[in-house]
This record gives sequence, structure tokens and C-alpha cells, in this order.
Amino acid sequence: MQKIYISLCLVVLLTGIGCDPKEKPDPLVAEKYRVVTTIGMITDIVKNVGGERVEVIGLMGPGVDPHLYKASAGDVQKFKSASLIFYNGLHLESKMGDILAKMSGDTKTIAVTDTVDRSLLLTPPEFEGQYDPHLWFDVTLWMKAVGKIRDVLSEFDSDNTLMYWSNAERYLAKLTELHEYVKEQAERLPSEQRVLVTAHDAFNYFGKAYGFEVRGLQGISTATEAGIADVQALATFIAERRIPAIFVESSVSTRSLEAVKAAVKSKGFEVEIGGELFSDAMGNEGTPEGTYIGMVRHNIDTIVKALVGESTASSSSTTEY
Ligand SMILES: [Zn+2]
Repeated sequence: MQKIYISLCLVVLLTGIGCDPKEKPDPLVAEKYRVVTTIGMITDIVKNVGGERVEVIGLMGPGVDPHLYKASAGDVQKFKSASLIFYNGLHLESKMGDILAKMSGDTKTIAVTDTVDRSLLLTPPEFEGQYDPHLWFDVTLWMKAVGKIRDVLSEFDSDNTLMYWSNAERYLAKLTELHEYVKEQAERLPSEQRVLVTAHDAFNYFGKAYGFEVRGLQGISTATEAGIADVQALATFIAERRIPAIFVESSVSTRSLEAVKAAVKSKGFEVEIGGELFSDAMGNEGTPEGTYIGMVRHNIDTIVKALVGESTASSSSTTEY
């Protein structure tokens, strides 16, 4: 009997719960299971859908570029301690391909995009026949990732299926509202003013869903540096189209877009840096932009504010998160 008590103590000790014989461990806390995620937008889904049942460890914080991110020894330990691993896939986490493949043998490792209908994905010619991974900027597509995570959590922890479904439903309702909000705000811009120039090509899904022509200085992945010819070509495009503002991204160096701004000036036109967008990483935790909904709202508000002409600037949006 004493033996059983000692080993029980060991288990509770390992799970971080006190071992006072008078104190019963909280079954909810004791039964939490660990989920490791890559980008913040996935972390956010797991938090919303998994609720109290799940301890979520997001590897990539604010300002972190998933195209360049390499797993540290600490990350490998986190992967090993996880019951489930969620990542975006479509080569977004391209430097983590090996470790994710290795983990898939031991732990359930899921690309949240793997059941999205391929006909809905973009295949930009410059990305060598691969799918564009940035689908979170079409909110309706990202809702499919929510469904995927809900289904995986429900299968893994089937006793709590109802909770996952009701959490997901609540979150999906908010995302439906978000999609409508982005659409409404985009429509404040006349279609010829809907031109979005950013540091890298993260906004193709956004462009397709909300009617923007999109140009990125770097390609789909930030792994390829922009050359002088790319800077000049983009500067010519901006000057010819008289585009008032271009946008830096929180997870990409601002240096290259500063070079574009200077090149535009040498062509006799002035372009502003219209603000910072959150492309492949969310903002700081505890700020509105530290959530997926907040980052998407921040982006559309920033884009519309910078691109709206004097004549169409009369109605300003109120932002609620
Ligand atoms: Zn990207």
C-alpha cells in the first residue's frame, strides 16, 4: 500500500501538483495534456478550442519568422513532451521539416492545412509549384484550420468532444464576424486603390479574398533575399501607379522596404511607410494584436487608413476587440 502511495506521489510530483495526503489534486488540472504549436495563429486556435483541457506551448512568439525558424534543443524537448503537435505545413516551417518528420513517428504531428481542399490553395509561379502557405489571411480558409484542430482534439480526448465543438463554434462565430469586418473595411477603398505592397508575399490569400492587388518585395518565403533588380522593379510599379503607402511586417527586416522607398523617391514620387502589418507572427501577448482576431483587424485598419484618399477618409472605423 505504501509503495502505491509513493509511486502516486511521484506521478503527482512529476505533473507539478502538491502531494499533501489531505489535499486531493484537481482532476481537471491533473488531466491537462500538452500541445506544442509552431506559429502564433495556430497557438491561438488551440487555446480557444482546447480551453482548460490543454496546456499549449507555442514555439514562435512575436516577431519570429517561421520561414527561417530552426528548432532549438529546447524545442526538441518540448516536442518530446507533447501529446499532440500542430504546425501549418505547406513548407511554411521549412527549416523544421526534418524534426517534424522525425516527431511524426512518436507523437501525433498534424499539419493544420492538410485537409484543406487543394483547389482552394494558391500556387504562385515563383514558388516553384508549391502551395502558398499563408492561408490565415483569408479568414474563411483559416476557419478550416479551426475545424481541423477541433476534430483532432475531439478524437484524441473523446470524453470532451462536446466541449471542443462548443468552443470551436463560439470561435468560428467570431471569425465569421471578423471576415465580414475585413470585407466591409476593404470596401471603403475604391477598387483601384486596393493595392497592397509589403515586405514579402504573405498576402496573396488576403488579396484574393478581399479584392486587393498584392505585391511583395521578397517572394513567398523570406529565405530568398530581394536583389537590386527587385527593388527597382517594385519602385517603378509604385511610382507609375502612384501608390501612397507600402507596409513593413513585424517578422521581416524593414531595411529592404526602406530601400524601395528611397528608390521610389529617386523616380520623383513619394511613398510612405503606411505602418507595420503582422504577417507571419502575431503581436505581443496581452495586446489586441497578440491574438489572431486582433492581428487581422489591426492589419485591415492599418491598410485602409494608409491607402484611403483624402476624399474617402470621412468615415473612420471604431476598433473593438
Ligand atoms: Zn511568410
